[in-house]
This record gives sequence, C-alpha cells and structure tokens, in this order.
Amino acid sequence: MKLYNIKENDEQVSFGQAVKQGLGRNQGLFFPSELPKFDDVDALLDKDFVSRSSDILSAFIGDELSPETVRSMVENAFQFPAPVEKVTDQISALELFHGPTLAFKDFGGRFMAQSLAAVSDSGKVTILTATSGDTGAAVAHAFYGMENINVVILYPKGKISPLQEKLFCTLGGNIHTVAINGTFDDCQAMVKNAFDDAELRAAIGLNSANSINISRLMAQICYYFEAASQLTKAQRENLVVAVPSGNFGNLTAGLLAKAIGLPIKRFIAATNVNDTVPRYLQTGEWTPEPTIPTLSNAMDVSQPNNWPRIEELCQRQGWGLNELGAGAVTDEQTAETLKAMFDGGYLCEPHGAIAYRVLDEQLQDGEHGLFLCTAHPAKFKESVDEILGQDIPLPGPLAKHAAMELLSVEQDADFAQLREYLMKVAG
Ligand SMILES: *Cc1c(COP(=O)(O)O)cnc(C)c1O
Repeated sequence: MKLYNIKENDEQVSFGQAVKQGLGRNQGLFFPSELPKFDDVDALLDKDFVSRSSDILSAFIGDELSPETVRSMVENAFQFPAPVEKVTDQISALELFHGPTLAFKDFGGRFMAQSLAAVSDSGKVTILTATSGDTGAAVAHAFYGMENINVVILYPKGKISPLQEKLFCTLGGNIHTVAINGTFDDCQAMVKNAFDDAELRAAIGLNSANSINISRLMAQICYYFEAASQLTKAQRENLVVAVPSGNFGNLTAGLLAKAIGLPIKRFIAATNVNDTVPRYLQTGEWTPEPTIPTLSNAMDVSQPNNWPRIEELCQRQGWGLNELGAGAVTDEQTAETLKAMFDGGYLCEPHGAIAYRVLDEQLQDGEHGLFLCTAHPAKFKESVDEILGQDIPLPGPLAKHAAMELLSVEQDADFAQLREYLMKVAG
C-alpha cells in the first residue's frame, strides 16, 4: 500500500510508515494513492463481518501484510457486533457502541493497535497520550494485554468523570495511568516534552497513536458495509446515511466505503452548533468560530482535522461538495429529538439524536435512512437521564469497571518526574 501526504505530495510512505508516523511533513495527512474497487458488492455483503472486513482491509494494505495476518488483526479488533436496529419504517440505526468502551472509537482504536503491533520492528513500543476523557479509554482497552507495548496515559486529576476514570484506570498490566495535578493542557504539554526528548524517545520507543492515523479510518470503512449487509436490497438501493460529525473521521470512512463500491446514494453531515462544515457547504466560506460546549461534547470541534481528506477524496472521485447534505442542531433541538425518539421506542443519546434529526428532516420519499449511533446512551447518562426523566442502567462493561479499584499513580505537572516514571515502567 502506498500513501501520500496531501499537503506535500512528494512525501510517499508505506502502510507501516503511515501507521507508525501518524502525520506527514508540515502536519499533512496521509491518503491512499490508489483505492481498491469491489465490483461484486453483493458477494461481499453475503460474507460475515470478520471475513468481509478482512477482504476489504487486505485489498487496501496489499502485499505489505499477508491476508492471514490481516484476518487475525481483524479477529482481534472486531470482537463485538455492529447491529442495525429499526427506528421507524423509513429509518434505521447503526449501533456502533457494543465494544469495551461503548463508543465507535473502539473499532478504529483496536484496529490501529493491531496495525501498530503488526508493523513495529521487534523492539519495544511505548504509547504516550494525554486524555480529557474518552480517547484514553479506547486506547487503553485497545492495547491492553499486547506484548512489547506499554501504554502510558496522562489525565488531569479530578477533571474527568469518575466513571470515565474507572473505565481505563483499573486495567493494570501494560496500561499505566497517571493522574496529573494540573490541567489537560499541562498533560498535553508534557506529552510534547517527551516527544521532543530524542534520548527518551529512542529508549522507550515512543509513539503517539493519535486520532488522525489512517488505520483508524480504514477500520471504520468496514462497518458501513456491515450496515448495508443487514438491510434489505430495496433499502440499500436508495440509501441515505447521516453521520454525527466532529473531526469528520467517520464521514471520511463512509465516503471511502462509497468510493470502493458500496452503493450509498447520499451522505448527510450532522453537527451540533459547532457548525463550521454545514456553513462552509452553504456559503463556501471556511470560518471556524470559537468552540462552544454542547450536550454532544465529542463533537465540540470547530476545526475538524479530517476535513482535508474529504476534499481530497471528493476531488479525486469527481464528486461535488454540494452533493453532501448537512445540518446543524442546537442543544434544545437535541433534547427534544431524544425525547421524541424515546417516546417512539428508541433510547438514544445526544450524538446519535443529532444525526437522526437531520436525517429525518432531509429524507425524501422512496429513500431509506440510516444514522450512526456513535455512543451508548449510558456513556452520557447524566444528560440522558435528565432529558428523559429516567434512570438508565449501566451496561455490563461500565458496571464491572465501576466496581474495580483505581490503579493510577499521582504526579505533579513536572516533566522530570514523568521522565523518570517512563524510564521505570517502559525503559
Ligand atoms: C468522536 C465522536 C464523534 C465524532 O466523530 P468524528 O469521526 O470525529 O466526526 C461522534 N460521536 C461520539 C460519541 C464520538 O465519541
């Protein structure tokens, strides 16, 4: 597999390099030079999730990893289903929250962990990351128990929810969590210090596992096919997919699925009031505003970092950006929609509800709508309970971790102290 840097086209890398490096020169994103093309999509849809996903990912990766290797990576990464549920006669939900951290990021995070392990030379690897909540959990669970890989996660003590903390600070083994007496920015600054320290970097095999890694997007392509496989042929023929979007990785993966052959008539990008993209699609002006906190806080992003990949793909496919549907939803409308959905018999959470609302508004006669449910309702229990006047139960994984002991160590926001710790656990 060959990829190029979309900012500096002369920088070309293999899959292995792209996975290890994350970003290219000048902060440029990597993009595949060639896309595979599946002509017999019906045959692909007849396969089971793991077999089909292995075929898709192998077609991307090419001869860099054997099909058997890719299959075992997929088996390890995709150990939970992505079911489609009926919400109304015309609209279905793709539930992406049945993984260990109850959000769709488990798919990308786990495949990235498998990819990194598969392409790393025999030496040790240390993943160092700072989290303000959710990414930490997905990264911790994705790498948990993997040989030769240590994970160190920094988070601001007392500034993430107790439940979030329990979800990733109770694992132990190769997962090391550090509660920093400081802010999220302090944590990020120390991660940066570590990457700037060449001696440390070499000693512990430092790597970042960040969110723009191409392996994540490749994994996410697979669940669009999985959704289509669960719909009827008639539903598939006029399929419109709505994606709740923040950094726009999910939508990029959907468009890639279409580019390699999945027949999707139209995509709709749904955002909260952080609506840089819907405004851009309407006016042609890219004018990010300061980020506003909302109920759907995983989408509180006003400078979406995957957007350049969408423009690149559309340009290469000859698709006009005006073919993309879009809409933005306020918190008030989100709550109202969540309630209406619940009254109609479907329990959702703010991110999914936003996608449902915009889909419902824009769907036309004869079309079938699918929206992505990116998180389990219990992950946003406080707001969901308040809006619905319910006390929704914690699902198994959350309840299990909630009862376990915290294993974090506590440190001041002091790089010298962190460096010593890193050398001790990973050196
Ligand atoms: C990350 C996240 C999103 C946004 O996904 P992008 O790929 O960044 O657009 C939406 N919902 C939830 C629950 C998330 O965690």
